[in-house]
Amino acid sequence: MESEPQSSTRRIAIIGGGIAGLSSAWTLEKARRSGQPIEYHLYEGSGRLGGVVASETIDGCVVEGGPDSFLTEKPAAAELCRELGLGDQLLGSNDAERRTYILVRNRLISLPDGLMFMVPTKLFPTALTPLFSWSTKLRMAREFLFPPAPATEDESVAAMTRRHFGQETVDRLVSPLLSGVYGGDASQLSVRAVLPRMVEMEEKHGSLSRAMLAARKKGGAPHSGANRPSRNSEAARARSLFTTLRGGMQQMVDAVAARLAPGSIHLSTPVRSIVHNSEYCTDPKPDCTYSCGWTLETASGQESFDGLIVALPAWTAASLLRPVDRLLADLLAEVPYSSSITVNLGYDIERLHGLPPGFGYLVPATEKRRMLACTFVHAKFAGRMPAGKGMLRCFMGGTGNDRLLEESDAALTETALRELSEVLGLRAQPSFVRIHRWRKAMAQYGVGHLERMQQVRETVAHLPGFALAGNAYQGIGVPDCIRTGQQAAETLLTFAQQQNSAATCAN
Ligand SMILES: Cc1cc2nc3c(=O)[nH]c(=O)nc-3n(C[C@H](O)[C@H](O)[C@H](O)COP(=O)(O)OP(=O)(O)OC[C@H]3O[C@@H](n4cnc5c(N)ncnc54)[C@H](O)[C@@H]3O)c2cc1C
Repeated sequence: MESEPQSSTRRIAIIGGGIAGLSSAWTLEKARRSGQPIEYHLYEGSGRLGGVVASETIDGCVVEGGPDSFLTEKPAAAELCRELGLGDQLLGSNDAERRTYILVRNRLISLPDGLMFMVPTKLFPTALTPLFSWSTKLRMAREFLFPPAPATEDESVAAMTRRHFGQETVDRLVSPLLSGVYGGDASQLSVRAVLPRMVEMEEKHGSLSRAMLAARKKGGAPHSGANRPSRNSEAARARSLFTTLRGGMQQMVDAVAARLAPGSIHLSTPVRSIVHNSEYCTDPKPDCTYSCGWTLETASGQESFDGLIVALPAWTAASLLRPVDRLLADLLAEVPYSSSITVNLGYDIERLHGLPPGFGYLVPATEKRRMLACTFVHAKFAGRMPAGKGMLRCFMGGTGNDRLLEESDAALTETALRELSEVLGLRAQPSFVRIHRWRKAMAQYGVGHLERMQQVRETVAHLPGFALAGNAYQGIGVPDCIRTGQQAAETLLTFAQQQNSAATCAN
């Protein structure tokens, strides 16, 4: 029997209301507004949207429980903000004050000027810094002329750094940067997935120092997080290392939510199971795509859809997708995640007068402390708290430290205050404390991640009307999650169009 071409409204479900799922929803909403016959429904398990993006205002201070900003050089987040009418809310980091310290034997040592992530590009600051011993400095100089042979396969970030610059650079620079930013372990993270430009540079130049110097001369060196002053004018904002929103990252979430179709968001509605109606998936003719159909089960019952976007942490996605595709579930379950805790401490600024200038400090694992990093929030972004207020954001947890999540608020506050006192000499009590625990929220791209992702793509290609989004795939930062959300929605829009434009399909 031949069926007529259908241009009926295609129904798409999104599971997960973090920034990835929301950016899928927004992309679908724009298509709907432009006349494409689609209807979408976003299911979020908790009672709020945003996932780990969670801002609030306390005593006039913007408190970020999750991400506090995004990398300016990745455009997706700022573009989304502009599209949502939040262009005037974008705020660059106060890079004139940018200075980051590393804690070494309980002493804060500033990252040397000219350091491009883990690679020195300026002779004198590198030679003079007390961050590295003389033997490491000599090794750095030697790397310029006699680089090691490139690796033939993926390796950890620590292994690559060790080959070029030795173990001390791993311990004092790369490990604290990766644990303080990603809650990650440099000895496990894949250099090809996390620092692909380093691998390209090694392949091209051999020496990373030489490669960075060349990139620096061309003005194209990757951002380092190291110290580099610039003014925070509108033009400088575009060059600031980090960008945020004046009222908090949640502004982005709220702006998307306000623009979505009425009735499309289902809060406090965890999806319990997914059924792929694959018995209808036979495809007897080329260019003929069938709606195989997806059925979701929630506490309110079952709903069927033509397409499905899963925008969940990979481990959650794995358990829901196991009945659909066991191989895909296995691949997703293999993506490790780390947990983290933020402890935001508000102060009257005069109580913070002894703080060194800069954005904060990172703590190497060799220091055996619980805090991985501390951000001096009032210094990093000007204008997100009233004059006279200051805030410290302590970051704890990371790979292998899940047990910290079980500690009470009082114990975590006590730990934060003790370490701040030991490191900064800060004795003042905060005027407010806000603690957020994020269980298994940050994906860790271990060695072999790119190969695993290739297998994921191949497996997903066999599931029509299905796409994945979120931080497990192509980058864990907010801009990357936005991008995967958009791509997932575009995949499903193409699928919906194909369904509607398929000439005739035999049943
Ligand atoms: C503490 C912290 C600090 C960070 N700092 C930065 C930063 O400064 N800059 C940066 O760029 N990135 C940062 N990141 C990373 C970035 O914020 C995240 O990777 C990103 O926001 C993840 O978005 P997501 O939508 O993929 O997932 P999530 O935000 O985890 O959202 C997933 C959603 O799915 C929901 N859900 C789970 N199960 C179900 C179910 N069965 N049914 C329905 N819904 C379900 C959850 O409730 C959640 O809302 C940080 C992350 C953390 C944890």
